[in-house]
Amino acid sequence: MPMQLDGITLTADDHGAGRADGYPGRSRARTHAVDRGSVDVQAIRRHFVFPGVGRVVTNNAASTQPPDELLELYRSLAAGYENVHRGQSDASRAMTALFEESYDTIARFLGAPGRASIALYRNTTEAINAVMYSLLTEFRDGDNVVTTMMEHNSNYVPWYAMCREILPRLGRRVEYRLARFDPGTGELDLDHLASLIDARTKLVCCTGASNFLGTRIRLPAVRALADGSGYRQPSGERRSYLLVDAAQLVPGSFVDVQALDVDYLAFSFHKLLAPFGVGVLYAKEHLLASSLPFLYGGDMIAEGRVFPDRVGYTCLPWKFAAGTPNILGAIVSAQALRILLDLALSPECPAYFGTGKPIERAAVESAMGRVSAWNRQLTSRALDGLGAIPGITIYGPRDPARRTSLVAFNAAGRDPVAVAEGLNRAGVESRAGCHCATLAHHALELTPRGSCRLSFYLYNTLDEVDQAVAAVAAIAAGPSGPAERGFPWTG
Ligand code: PLP
Repeated sequence: MPMQLDGITLTADDHGAGRADGYPGRSRARTHAVDRGSVDVQAIRRHFVFPGVGRVVTNNAASTQPPDELLELYRSLAAGYENVHRGQSDASRAMTALFEESYDTIARFLGAPGRASIALYRNTTEAINAVMYSLLTEFRDGDNVVTTMMEHNSNYVPWYAMCREILPRLGRRVEYRLARFDPGTGELDLDHLASLIDARTKLVCCTGASNFLGTRIRLPAVRALADGSGYRQPSGERRSYLLVDAAQLVPGSFVDVQALDVDYLAFSFHKLLAPFGVGVLYAKEHLLASSLPFLYGGDMIAEGRVFPDRVGYTCLPWKFAAGTPNILGAIVSAQALRILLDLALSPECPAYFGTGKPIERAAVESAMGRVSAWNRQLTSRALDGLGAIPGITIYGPRDPARRTSLVAFNAAGRDPVAVAEGLNRAGVESRAGCHCATLAHHALELTPRGSCRLSFYLYNTLDEVDQAVAAVAAIAAGPSGPAERGFPWTG
C-alpha cells in the first residue's frame, strides 16, 4: 500500500516493493557532477521554524534544528502507521519497505556497500557501546584498546568500563591507552599515538572531529598506524580495527567509509537535521556477520529457528535490530539525509526528499562540499571576530580548514556558564561546560571551569556570527558579576 505524503505517493524504491523511481508524480531525476557552488542560506532558512521566532541558534554541535518537512513527514506517516516485519497487511508491508529502504539511503550517503553494513541505534553513544559489547568476548588477556584524550566521553567511558569494570570480572586484563593532543595547536599527537599502538592493540578508537577543539583528525594517518600493528584478529587480518566517532564529522563533511577504510563508524542524526532518537553504526559486513549481536530478542532471529537447545540469527542488518525499532525515526532520519542534499543543492526545487530514488555519490559530494565550505566561512568569521576581543582564549587549530564548524573559547576571568547565560540574554544560543570532552578539558586544566562554545550549521548567517561575536565582546568588556568574581581563575 503506497503512503500519501502531502500529495506525494510515498512507496519504496526498487529495493522495496515500488517502481523503479518509486515515487509517482516526482520524476525529477537529475544527475549531479561535483560542483563548487555555494549554499543559498536565505532559501534554506525558509524551511525552518527558528528564524521566524527570532532565535540565533548557534549550539548546533549539540543538536541541529529540524526542517518543517521532516516534522510534517511524521504526520504523513500516520496514515499507514504499522509495525515492521510483523504483519501481513498492506500497511505493514509498506511501512516495512520504507523502513528497510532507509538503510539503503544511509548506506549510500556513507558510501557503504549496502544495508548489511548499517545498524541503527538511539544515538552515537549507543552505537559505540554496541561495538564494545559485540567485541567484548574477543578481547584476549593482555590486549589493549587505544583511544585519545580528545574523545567525547561516549568514546572513552565505554572502553574505560570494559577494561576497568567488565573484563576484570571475567578474569581478563585488557588495558586502555590514551593518546595526547598538542594543547597549542589542538592536533592529535600522531607520534604519541604511534607509540601506544602495538601487536596487542585490538582496536583504535578515534574521534573524526573533536567536539571541543573542533580539530579534524587525519584519519588516513590513524588508519595507517592501526594497519601497522600486526594484531591478529579472529578473521585472520593482521591489524588493529579502527572505530571512528563521526558525530561531529558526518554532519558537515563528505565521508566515504570505504575510502577511509574504517571498520566501524558512528554518528547521530539529531546533529544532522533529523529529530532526536536515531544513531548509526556503520561496520564492515564481515565484522557484523562474525560478531555477537549487542541486543538479543525478537526480530533478530531467523523465522522459526528458535528451539529449546539452539537459536539461529537472521541475516544482516536485522541481526542487529532486536525488538521493535524506532520505525518512524529511521524513516524520517534517512529522509533528513535527502533534505540535507536538497537544501545544499537546490532548496527551492527538491530532488531527493520524499522520494526513495537512490542518491548519487556525486550529489552527496557536491552537497557536503557546499555545507563544509559554508561552515568554514562561518567558522572563519567567528575565529577572526573572537580572536580580536581582548582576553579571549580560543581552543583548537587556528586554521578554519583544520576545523569543523565550532569554536570553544574562554573570556579571561569569566565563568563560561555566565558567558553562555549572558549570550542567551543577548539572544544568542551557546553551550558552556566540558561538552562531554572532559579528558581534553582536564588536559588544558579547564576543569571545573569548562569553556563556552558557539557552533554553526548550514542555515546560520554571517550576521548571526557577528551578532554572537558582538555579544561576547560586550560580555568580556562588561563588569563581572559576583558569582564570577568568586571563581579561582582570573586573567
Ligand atoms: N561524540 C561526539 C564527538 C559528540 O559530539 C557527541 C555529542 O555531542 C557524541 C559523541 C554523543 O552523541 P549522542 O549524545 O548523540 O550519543
